[in-house]
Amino acid sequence: MTTQLPGLPPGAADPCVHCGFCLPTCASYRVLASEMDSPRGRIHALRAIEAGELELDATAASHFDTCLGCYACVTACPSGVRYDQLIEATRPKLNQAELRSSWQISFRQLLLQVLPYPRRLRALLQPLRAYAGTPLQQLARRSGLTRLFGPGIEAMEQLLPALAPDNFRDDLPQINPATGPRRGRVALLLGCVQRCFDPSVSTATVKVLQANGFEVVIPPDQGCCGAVSHHQGELELTRRLAADLVRSMNAIDGDLDAVLVAASGCGHTMKAYGEIVHDGAQFRAPVQDVQEFLAAQGLSDGFRSRLQSLPNSVIAMHDACHMIHGQGIQQQPRQLLAAIPDLVLREATEAGVCCGSAGIYNLVQPVEAAELGRIKADDLNRTGANVVASANIGCTLQLRRHLGEGVRVLHPMELLAASANLQ
Ligand code: SF4
Ligand code: SF4
Repeated sequence: MTTQLPGLPPGAADPCVHCGFCLPTCASYRVLASEMDSPRGRIHALRAIEAGELELDATAASHFDTCLGCYACVTACPSGVRYDQLIEATRPKLNQAELRSSWQISFRQLLLQVLPYPRRLRALLQPLRAYAGTPLQQLARRSGLTRLFGPGIEAMEQLLPALAPDNFRDDLPQINPATGPRRGRVALLLGCVQRCFDPSVSTATVKVLQANGFEVVIPPDQGCCGAVSHHQGELELTRRLAADLVRSMNAIDGDLDAVLVAASGCGHTMKAYGEIVHDGAQFRAPVQDVQEFLAAQGLSDGFRSRLQSLPNSVIAMHDACHMIHGQGIQQQPRQLLAAIPDLVLREATEAGVCCGSAGIYNLVQPVEAAELGRIKADDLNRTGANVVASANIGCTLQLRRHLGEGVRVLHPMELLAASANLQ
């Protein structure tokens, strides 16, 4: 059966001249070494499908599924091809029963039914408290027991961090007043995966903002931003989640200078609500990554005067794809970290190549993702740093898995908070 592919942005593929400049930056091409798994090959396939020369069958769909949606190819392309628009328009068309196995469909549905809902995720994690981060987990991994459940479940297990009581509650107050001279008022997204797996990021973010003169409002009824479902081309669910989040943030009383996010995957999707949510629902204040916001506002003099050297001050920067390629944010985290006395910032050789996390890619394409994780870990290890700065929860979990215990992975806000002795 030939499936037509209507709805691609008109002319978006036209500027592609097949030069191949995008290939070295493409994470899927890197590990699969096949033209069909490269941006150039996928653009060629899209044109052929549109022209009725190629069928969108399970084989063709599998080559779109290997794409991480990292957008490194958009940054690399000298002709201005908007591959991001092409793959985002293609993904909803891949969610058809005949294009995926029943296991793939069920596993994706399970993830989409759990990950965007912190209450469900926490309920699922609760019984794992006696296992995660314990000798039992090490034993299960060493014995190969986790492999018996298949690559998807094994990948989930490998990403599972140790679970403390903090992972199961949202402790931050709704209103967090500025602790220095007041400079403004912002809202903060907690993120659903971040609040469950790495709640200290939000705590550090709030403390750094407060110490820089910003009151931080955290609506308690806030849900998921829809990044996970957006990345999977599940537009209906994404629109519902987006509309709910806009309602929750817009219900905040009083002034609001920005809606801030401390996870790049979430920020990238929230900045795209204008294209995703068609009923005009928009935040009443601009969405910004917290690093983008703080770099633009400038660290306050009072905050700067608190900053002290960190014991482990050789830090490698990890640029999340949805930060560097998706939002064009690269210098801001470096500017902020440069304020920490004696800090040495090292750069990875291939900073622009994806680590393999990419939303739920490391769960649904575990083999390719694990290879990318190993490549990224080697690159970061070569810097000699003992701390990696990562501003996206997905990358953080992926890097912690592959870097092992000798290297800590922390959010830049956690590093600033530690340097200012705010923790
Ligand atoms: S997408 Fe851009 S960089 Fe890649 S082959 Fe086409 S024109 Fe060249
Ligand atoms: S989005 Fe990333 S993985 Fe997909 S084609 Fe572009 S560079 Fe390759």
